[in-house]
Amino acid sequence: MSESNPVPARPVLSLVVPMFNESANVDGLFARLTGVLDRIGESWEVVCVDDGSGDDTVARVVEHHRRDSRIRLVELSRNFGKELALTAGLQHTCGQAVVMIDADLQHPPELIGEMVEKWRQGFEMVIAVRRGRENESALKRVSARAFYDLFARVSEVRLPQGAGDFRLLDRKVVDVLNAMPEHTRFMKGLYAWVGFRQTSIPYDVADRAAGVTKFNLFRLYRLAIDGITAFTSVPLKVWTFVGMMVAAFALLYGLLFVVKTLILGIDVPGYPSLIVATMFFSGVQLISLGVIGEYLGRVFTEVKSRPLYVVRNAYGCRRETIGGE
Ligand code: UDP
Ligand code: MG
Repeated sequence: MSESNPVPARPVLSLVVPMFNESANVDGLFARLTGVLDRIGESWEVVCVDDGSGDDTVARVVEHHRRDSRIRLVELSRNFGKELALTAGLQHTCGQAVVMIDADLQHPPELIGEMVEKWRQGFEMVIAVRRGRENESALKRVSARAFYDLFARVSEVRLPQGAGDFRLLDRKVVDVLNAMPEHTRFMKGLYAWVGFRQTSIPYDVADRAAGVTKFNLFRLYRLAIDGITAFTSVPLKVWTFVGMMVAAFALLYGLLFVVKTLILGIDVPGYPSLIVATMFFSGVQLISLGVIGEYLGRVFTEVKSRPLYVVRNAYGCRRETIGGE
């Protein structure tokens, strides 16, 4: 701890910044963040989580840490994904309110002041909701919309459209999230699940300051499946209904054949319909098996109960080699 920046035992405000190959954004981020935080006038800390970057993100953040001990770093041993990086960050904060923010400056730090104001008014979660998705590809927009619609239909919790990880959480909320043992951590769902007094403020997403997005369509697909499987078992149960429908249809179709044969006699052709029906229902069976596999795989992950993440080094934070237990 440097003397010019004495760190209070418990700062009012903690920031969590997940970083995966964000070297080019580090300097710009801290320049803007420290300005904003100092203007708010509360004591603060920034907990960066390096999620197994291959570039010099760690070295750059450590430089800042040496200059200002309120900037801290938890270095994970490999890439664990954003959800776990956030989890690690939350577990290393000690502020009374915690704000999660991306490292690429897509989330305007200037909004933090407004979040803190709402928190002071008594809200335990202040969600920044993006106004539009104009700066995303049409494919990403359409798939996001489809995901939110599907999730709303099948899940027990409600995800507000456009609400991401950029939000302020009261210490009470953070403690609940930290106590949740699950390994498949779909954070957006967990925020909604915990409840508490929530409010939102709209914001415009900026363009990435530097670098490229780490979420390609495949990763987004995995995230969507994680979200659905973690918050509903409808996909598992739907097959009972599908099976009953198919069986009822088959029974009626069979009856039709009995009647037809009694009246018109035996009629042998029907090879194409046989093939089509066999292939169609093999497909349906494989899909249902795949769905069971998705859930079984997750049950397997939970049962193994491995740590959520592994820490290589910590700068300015207590260091626990394995986290999440
Ligand atoms: N991130 C991370 N681990 C990952 C992928 C991303 O910590 O495996 C971080 C990344 O460094 C950034 C934030 O999560 O700070 C959001 O990622 P990105 O900007 O690539 O996603 P997008 O904004 O395109 O959804
Ligand atoms: Mg981004």
